[in-house]
Amino acid sequence: MQRNIQHLLNPALQNIAPYSVEGGQQAEIKLNQNESPFDVPMWLKEEIVGQFIKEPWNRYPDILPYRGMKAYADFLGVSPDCVMMSNGSNEMLYTIFLACLGPSRKVLIPTPSFSLYEKIALMLQSDIVTVPMRSDLDFDTEAIVKRAREENVDFIVLSTPNNPTGKSLSFEEIRLIAEATDAIVLVDEAYIEFSRQRSALELIAELPNLVVLRTMSKALALAGIRIGFAIANPLLMAELAKPKIPFASSRLAEITLIRVLANYSLVTDAVTYILHEREKLYSELLSIDAVQPFESDTNFLIIRLRDAAAAFRKLSSEGILVRNVSGYPLMENCLRFNVGLIEENQQVIEKLRLL
Ligand code: PMP
Repeated sequence: MQRNIQHLLNPALQNIAPYSVEGGQQAEIKLNQNESPFDVPMWLKEEIVGQFIKEPWNRYPDILPYRGMKAYADFLGVSPDCVMMSNGSNEMLYTIFLACLGPSRKVLIPTPSFSLYEKIALMLQSDIVTVPMRSDLDFDTEAIVKRAREENVDFIVLSTPNNPTGKSLSFEEIRLIAEATDAIVLVDEAYIEFSRQRSALELIAELPNLVVLRTMSKALALAGIRIGFAIANPLLMAELAKPKIPFASSRLAEITLIRVLANYSLVTDAVTYILHEREKLYSELLSIDAVQPFESDTNFLIIRLRDAAAAFRKLSSEGILVRNVSGYPLMENCLRFNVGLIEENQQVIEKLRLL
């Protein structure tokens, strides 16, 4: 029998597309996924693997990775029942969205922001209220509060510092938004280690509707291991844990997290290097006529050029992979690239001077 496959499936699939990375994931100079340019050193990898091989691989890990959660809670100075660990923060986004959304529930998303938010909301057949950033790509806090109230939204997602704009909300602005509505407010702090702003973490004690999301994929250089965290007060956390995929974090992820946290100076040294290079890159970009850089609060930079698609192709042909973010609202002819090693950053500047 001839069947129309689309009719057999969830109709929400017709509104979404698979996640893709333009230009792929291989390059001589790879700056397109906001990763750390520093891999975990070999001595530490060996220590981690040495511990991992003593684990029973035939046995399930804990339902939730309690060892990793205890280690991160201790690191943050919060109680273990305030944290939940996931297989990358993307997985936690699915968990939290499942807990907060559903058909006819409303989510407010400032735009442009991380594309996965809209995708999961569409999948859950929720209504999306978008609030555009200002033309300088900064958050429009007043408009966020106003729209959240007018639309009586159930859920607000704030990526701060924001991917792809590189801009942040202040601590006080986050408080203002979370106090102004009855919505659950998710603050995605994927890039917080690179930010000039204070983390929203301290607010969880006073705001029962706040959830903070963290990833180990950026400053902690563990994108390949897949570790994310949510932090909230225990009552909210107990609810968010209900849709969580059981056994999603491997024994390897737990051990890696514990060992990297125990050697955190590796992370602070890398962050110092990246921030120094970010400022150097920004001032060099200012001196290139064909390029308009935006000030960044993250480990990546946004530049506007005359023809971003042509610049993307030219850089790719020279082995430099960046992200063309021109398709996002307000970001016409913009490219995004993360801070790399000194030599890599010099190469980028040299090539951009020749455009
Ligand atoms: N949030 C934001 C804002 C991001 O930019 C990213 C990665 N690009 C993630 C979450 C997901 O990171 P991961 O799943 O690797 O933890």
